[in-house]
Amino acid sequence: MTLQADYLVVGTGAMGMAFVDTLLTETDASIVMVDKHGKPGGHWNDAYPFVHLHQPSSFYGVNSEKLGDDAIDETGWNKGLHELASGDEVCAYFEHVMQRRFIASGRVKYFPMSEFIGDKSFKSIVTGDVQQVTAGKVVDATYMNVSVPSVKPPEYQVDSDVTCMPLNDLPKLKQAHSQYVVIGAGKTGMDACLWLLSNQVAPDAISWVMPRDSWILDRANIQPGRAGAAIGITGLAGQMHAIAESKSIDDMFDHVQENGQLLRIDDAVKPSMYRCATVTDLELQQLKRIKNVIRKGRVTRVTKGQLELAEGSVPLSEDALYIDCTADALARRPAVPVFDGDQITLQTVRFCQQVFSAAFIAHIEATYESADERNRLCTVVPHPNRATDWMRVTLAHAMNQLSWSADASLVDWLANARLDAFSQPASSVATPTAEMQDAMAKIDKYGPIALQKLRAYIDLADQLDAADMS
Ligand SMILES: Cc1cc2nc3c(=O)[nH]c(=O)nc-3n(C[C@H](O)[C@H](O)[C@H](O)COP(=O)(O)OP(=O)(O)OC[C@H]3O[C@@H](n4cnc5c(N)ncnc54)[C@H](O)[C@@H]3O)c2cc1C
Repeated sequence: MTLQADYLVVGTGAMGMAFVDTLLTETDASIVMVDKHGKPGGHWNDAYPFVHLHQPSSFYGVNSEKLGDDAIDETGWNKGLHELASGDEVCAYFEHVMQRRFIASGRVKYFPMSEFIGDKSFKSIVTGDVQQVTAGKVVDATYMNVSVPSVKPPEYQVDSDVTCMPLNDLPKLKQAHSQYVVIGAGKTGMDACLWLLSNQVAPDAISWVMPRDSWILDRANIQPGRAGAAIGITGLAGQMHAIAESKSIDDMFDHVQENGQLLRIDDAVKPSMYRCATVTDLELQQLKRIKNVIRKGRVTRVTKGQLELAEGSVPLSEDALYIDCTADALARRPAVPVFDGDQITLQTVRFCQQVFSAAFIAHIEATYESADERNRLCTVVPHPNRATDWMRVTLAHAMNQLSWSADASLVDWLANARLDAFSQPASSVATPTAEMQDAMAKIDKYGPIALQKLRAYIDLADQLDAADMS
């Protein structure tokens, strides 16, 4: 059977959903959506049961529909900050958007449990039937390749007489262990540690395998509304000042940390990783209680009573529970042109802002004609990985922001985009407070010097990398 549509969108994760939502608002296109999952929401369907968004619900989901109530949490380690939807809430939200908005529009045909097999065709996982779509364009909403621990076995060897589980299984625990070993120090590892601590496991009973220390974002700096805008613009001004005044890359990171824009778990260890992990100050204080941090590289093998790592081994208790938190939710994919003939590949045009990026790309698709112009406005900002990538994404983000701000209609679109956390300062400048005016003056003064410094530091980091490789 052949289906007809203007767009075939592969993937109904957050990015595919945010893209289609904007396309529905801004065009009269017809769309076929396919996904291997039985429900929209992508990796959220496989997430650990205690997962929450890492950043406020206020700017997550799709542009046209609010997620949550913009409430401020009054309890817990996110106290005082905007609410974070749980994984179940995110899944329910995307299901609602799919049923009530997409399918109800009559313009979207949705095929769950269906695998894209190339050549504009997909195969039902349930019946095995293959269908082809006569589609104007194919949208790849799978390229970012999110991976979560529950769907990916660990890459290290696990002996059959030890207990090792993805963090998804923690709430199913039936008995206590004398030691809990969290493997992985990204945001998922942090969430596993916080879950253990919140369930009264003593910090001494937790061992945390941290192959790399990380620079971390402070959630207090990423908040919606006018108050959030004031914090955002003041923070940006401080960051530009810190970069502009710095004397070296290390000095720059120290200044940015002093300015409150980056956090780290141990001030004695220089982070080598940056992957947009986001915590609150209360969460950071909890994580700092864990003193058994194993810094010996990646785990190679888990045996009874001993953990083997790339740089040595560590004796551990025989009944230790190993908790796998090693999947790569932020895969480093090579940047490809977003618009390439009849192919659109969804990627991030703002660092670590996937849903915003997908909606933005849909707006550009709907509004601009030339492929060159579209790709210029959608310059990809690949996911960061190493600490020095913080400089790369900060510069790339600033350059995109500058090219967008030269286009009045785009500025207007951004100011009204629910998913845009960063343009709120722009929309608040109509009636800025004295503090915001000071911050804007500071950005004008230090911004150009900071961007120049970032370029020089990136060149230097590239040279050091090249020397390391040779
Ligand atoms: C725990 C966690 C918390 C996060 N919190 C935030 C947050 O607070 N704010 C934020 O902005 N970001 C957050 N993120 C980042 C998050 O990854 C993105 O926001 C977003 O959910 C990624 O969606 P995606 O559509 O790119 O990928 P996915 O969710 O992976 O969706 C891709 C879809 O494509 C489908 N697919 C793949 N191949 C095929 C094929 N061949 N045929 C058919 N279907 C296919 C898959 O089944 C999947 O459903 C978080 C990530 C994690 C892991």
